[in-house]
Amino acid sequence: MMQFCTCSHLENAHEGDRCRYCARCEGFEDGSNEYTADLLSLGETALKIGKKSVEQQGTVHVFFVFRDRDGKIIEQHVPEKYGPILNSDQTKTILFSFIREQVKANDYRAVVITAEAWMSMSTKKGAALGSKEFEALYRKLKSDGMEAAGYSTRGECVVANIQTPEQTMILTQRFERIGKLINWCEISVMQRPADEVRGRQKMFGDLRPENVR
Ligand SMILES: [Zn+2]
Ligand SMILES: [Zn+2]
Repeated sequence: MMQFCTCSHLENAHEGDRCRYCARCEGFEDGSNEYTADLLSLGETALKIGKKSVEQQGTVHVFFVFRDRDGKIIEQHVPEKYGPILNSDQTKTILFSFIREQVKANDYRAVVITAEAWMSMSTKKGAALGSKEFEALYRKLKSDGMEAAGYSTRGECVVANIQTPEQTMILTQRFERIGKLINWCEISVMQRPADEVRGRQKMFGDLRPENVR
């Protein structure tokens, strides 16, 4: 196990004990979280592929990285012409259940789902609220309302969702476009036991229909 900061940004986003990217950082001293190095390294492998694709093609279409019982890594990309598959709820559900069946059939021991996404970030005005008030307001106003009120702003990111039968980790690499150049910003990390995770991207554990919707 390794540690990441309470602000959720990786160690390399920090100078000394302070995060270069956020006001909510309280440093590493107490209450720092732990994460599994193996999941992080798998996620970084996937992010690297995704970042290269953003740099060369301007975008990244959803792709999957599997690790089999022997530790072999298998990469599977959704062809560009099927990119819109993630734009519809129904096709998204079909894609992920197809992947889930492949994971089972091949007895894969780890899966990474990587795609491009939007993320919501607090502005200075939002950060001034403090995290509890911010979250309460977010539940009420949703992301559009928060943006309209100037509390948050949208950023682009590459998201890697790493799963093993025991753990799940979400790695979010934010980026900005400056003309044709890509400025890679902070990476945030969140890890939870696989049992606590639900939703259609769930690949391991209790896969009853109500858990994978
Ligand atoms: Zn931070
Ligand atoms: Zn921090």
